[in-house]
Amino acid sequence: MKLDATDLRYITSDEFRVLTAVEMGSKNHEIVPTVLIVQISGLRNGGVNKILGSLAKRNLVARVQNSRYDGYRLTYGGYDYLAMRALSKRDSMYSVGNQIGVGKESDIYIVADQEGKEMVLKLHRLGRISFRAIKEKRDYLGKRKSASWMYMSRLAAQKEWAFMKVLHEHDFPVPKPVDQARHCILMEFIDAYPLRQVSEVPSPGALYSKLMDLIVRFAHSGLIHGDFNEFNILIRRETGEPVVIDFPQMVSTSHENAEWYFNRDVECIRTFFRRRFQYESNLYPRFRSTMKDGADDGEGFRLDVVVSASGFKKSDQKILEEYMEAVGESRAESDEEEEDEEEESEEEEEGEENSEDPEAETGPRTVDDLGEGTSETETDPALSP
Ligand code: ADP
Ligand code: MG
Repeated sequence: MKLDATDLRYITSDEFRVLTAVEMGSKNHEIVPTVLIVQISGLRNGGVNKILGSLAKRNLVARVQNSRYDGYRLTYGGYDYLAMRALSKRDSMYSVGNQIGVGKESDIYIVADQEGKEMVLKLHRLGRISFRAIKEKRDYLGKRKSASWMYMSRLAAQKEWAFMKVLHEHDFPVPKPVDQARHCILMEFIDAYPLRQVSEVPSPGALYSKLMDLIVRFAHSGLIHGDFNEFNILIRRETGEPVVIDFPQMVSTSHENAEWYFNRDVECIRTFFRRRFQYESNLYPRFRSTMKDGADDGEGFRLDVVVSASGFKKSDQKILEEYMEAVGESRAESDEEEEDEEEESEEEEEGEENSEDPEAETGPRTVDDLGEGTSETETDPALSP
């Protein structure tokens, strides 16, 4: 999907109002009834219909007709738009360049600020390939079954942001975090290749040690990366130094499966070095002894604790973790072919109506309730739990 930054600056305030109304309505409805959009936006009926038409033409919302009512849902494009608009209103970013990555659960773009300084925008896309897994295990979402792709993607971004900040503040080699909004993270652009694309290094042994030291240093700070592999390690073009990315699956060393996660990170590196560089060493960290050493000579920080205190709630962490486990299990079970089907089943999902409707009694919040000045930049009204 091409992101269009020109659009960011040319949307009327009524269009923005209606788009925000659809987002707010998504909190309780997979398909937001048109009448509700009218109500939330606080605009005239006829005007809203016309605006919805033009938003749909730009793929920011999609019209869905089901047997019971006519309505709209926010698209990925619409959610992207709202997030990027918030970032651009805060002057964090100004223009969008090329897409440089399509991950399993993210899209990565080069963007720039007003001075032309390049950065990386990561848009989280949870739920894109794994809706079936969640459908079976989504009880933990409770009443919040609708809009789960938005909700999960936002949680992933908030978690990644919280970890990247703390890691950067403690001098771990990670990109400098710049800003975060909804399901997006803005960060420093690293001029580097993923280790995956590197066929030769001056000294595989030295790089191997550096990476294992990093795993140990994470653990001494109470953290396990959880996806420490050749895709998530970037090698700086100029210096050959490694930079670690991709943190939505990080776990605490107090996690019940910490040892398993730790060993898997270590094994990923060992296997890669054996295959790619024919480098093998008997020296590699073990979880228990690492933790025992850490008790004595740790850096004195428990970053897992710092992150918990930083505003990324334990309950959110739990929801995300369950999601990731569900997805992990389903990945292990299904082959690639099946993953394609899952994408389709996301569409089927749209037909369901959420019978829970807390607004029925109290009436909906409206765009105006968001308050002047804050609505465009700060809030993520649809999705606060
Ligand atoms: P995913 O969760 O989809 O795996 P990642 O955060 O691992 O997403 O990023 C995917 C790819 O995008 C990386 O392998 C890398 O090539 C590129 N990338 C991500 N962040 C940066 C960055 N800060 N600087 C340069 N390239 C990046
Ligand atoms: Mg990755």
